[in-house]
Amino acid sequence: MTAAQTSAHPLVAASGLTKRFAAPRSLSDMFSGHQPHVHAVDGIDLRIARGESVGLLGESGCGKTTTGRLLLKLTEPSAGSIAFDGVAIDTLKGNALTAFRKRAQLVFQNPFDALNPRFTIERVLAEPLVNTGVERASHSDKVEKALAQVRLPPLSRFEGLFPHQLSGGQLQRIVLARALVLEPDFIVADEPVSMLDVSVRAGVLNVMREVRATLGLAALYISHDLALVRYVCSTTLVMYLGKIVEQGPTADLLKTPLHPYTRALVNAVPVPRVDQSHEPLPIIGNVSDARGQPRGCRFRERCPMAVARCAEEEPPLRDCGQGRRVACHLA
Ligand code: SF4
Repeated sequence: MTAAQTSAHPLVAASGLTKRFAAPRSLSDMFSGHQPHVHAVDGIDLRIARGESVGLLGESGCGKTTTGRLLLKLTEPSAGSIAFDGVAIDTLKGNALTAFRKRAQLVFQNPFDALNPRFTIERVLAEPLVNTGVERASHSDKVEKALAQVRLPPLSRFEGLFPHQLSGGQLQRIVLARALVLEPDFIVADEPVSMLDVSVRAGVLNVMREVRATLGLAALYISHDLALVRYVCSTTLVMYLGKIVEQGPTADLLKTPLHPYTRALVNAVPVPRVDQSHEPLPIIGNVSDARGQPRGCRFRERCPMAVARCAEEEPPLRDCGQGRRVACHLA
């Protein structure tokens, strides 16, 4: 069992989380007055304990980023609930909302989305403290502490420097330090090293893993990269078209994937598989259209194992023991 599953009070607990977006209407939709929707996230449950690192794995367009934004209250759900430290986040206002914003931080994929190119590094790092009304006298200590946590030199070494004058690896550590100055309990890292050269990825991931373990942070890593979740996540959830299709302890899930989609993702990685008990499964085509309310299994158009039942019945996410869950009629 994972920490969050055994904990009565996970730090983050989402239930029935759903986000629908209005999709462009076709001519016939306009005549009939029908408004189609994209189901970006469709009724997922998710729990993350203090100190736990959870991976959310899947291809682009599967709803991973929307899930992260919902958990941080950067977008509002269409249905479902999210509790943070036992409090429903949709009720947060005023000081309670500011306190939540400090405790739950986003680590951006692209440093330039997070860092104003016209701000010096010093200003970039102090900005979250200013925005959340943290006492000015403590800014310098908090910034120096965060820089040390991400293994960057003291602020004096960045004096007068702007983001474009730093390397990609340094910039990503600055992005992480900027999240850490507020001393959060929870971070959502959205493809945190995908913009970096392979040569510097390991260094940044090491720092993230070390920081999370030392500070006991809960973390959600959003990624399409199996190597990343294998390296930093104790638990992994696999997402396809807004649904969790498989979840479990990362090592077990990647060693013996149960869902055809997870098997296809694992087989797409050109490394020797430890477990040869599953035949490789090819993944067919691209992510299907997320519009409308699809009947049956959402993966069926790409699934080489699909049977007639898959078009009729949506497979529930069922317990397989030892912390594993899978949504497939045949798994
Ligand atoms: Fe494939 Fe059917 Fe399982 Fe869906 S339920 S993953 S279509 S076998």
